[in-house]
Amino acid sequence: MSRVQKAILAILAVSASAVWYVILSAPPEVLTIYFFDVGQGDSALVTSPDGTQILIDGGPDDTVLRRLGEVMPFYDRSLDAIILTHPHADHVNGLVKVLERYEVGMVIDSGAVYATGAYKEWERRIRDKHIPHVIAVSGQRMIAGGDLRVDMIAPLESFEGASRKNVHDGMVVVELAYGETSVLFTGDMEDDLERKLLYFGVLPNTDILKVGHHGSKTSSAESFLKAVSPEAAVISSGQKNRYGHPHEDVLVRLEQLGISLHRTDEEGTVVLVADAFGTYTFRGK
Ligand SMILES: [Zn+2]
Ligand SMILES: [Zn+2]
Repeated sequence: MSRVQKAILAILAVSASAVWYVILSAPPEVLTIYFFDVGQGDSALVTSPDGTQILIDGGPDDTVLRRLGEVMPFYDRSLDAIILTHPHADHVNGLVKVLERYEVGMVIDSGAVYATGAYKEWERRIRDKHIPHVIAVSGQRMIAGGDLRVDMIAPLESFEGASRKNVHDGMVVVELAYGETSVLFTGDMEDDLERKLLYFGVLPNTDILKVGHHGSKTSSAESFLKAVSPEAAVISSGQKNRYGHPHEDVLVRLEQLGISLHRTDEEGTVVLVADAFGTYTFRGK
């Protein structure tokens, strides 16, 4: 081999390793979901590979502000969308503060009527800040940045202006999918609505289930769990909460179906990281 040939080989080797360096050091294309520890309530932040941020529920108080501050850069004061599953305090209260502190691109909720101070404040701030407001209905699909798909599963018909004794009947149930991985957010859905969605054939087959109603025994019927057939589940509930969530029956059902479980009351904030090829992992924060 001539000296020139050796020099060319050396240059090729160096440039090849430079290419590998660029590939290996590029930020990974992943979807990250933080199931926040907000005590007895629900709140999850979804971040897609292009940086799109969607907050689903806000927990019972302003703990959510601290949780957002822990995972978002300090200069980032905006969220692309907020989804409110239903007007109960343990889901909406924290969002009132979030609307005050963050620029929000759009909000999605059921539009149900509910007479609590926090929920009225939520509606008032959306109006005052002229935030685009979408009423969720089954069948809507949104493609967010970074190939994140957002599908509305429930409510089956619009709840705009509707007042119900049990607002759990008008739950916004949403499936998020990125690449091969999908996650079903059920809010506080109870077995009545589970059965209805099953009957109408709109339940997706999902990899990861955010268990309904903090693991209450009025949710997660066996027929529902079998239809959704998740591999893994997350329960968001407070330590030693006064409702006894999650209920032992639900824990047994999940275990019998071989569904692995993560709990915010035991692990704190639960973090799900998924790539586009169906590989996902859970890790502590
Ligand atoms: Zn709740
Ligand atoms: Zn509720």
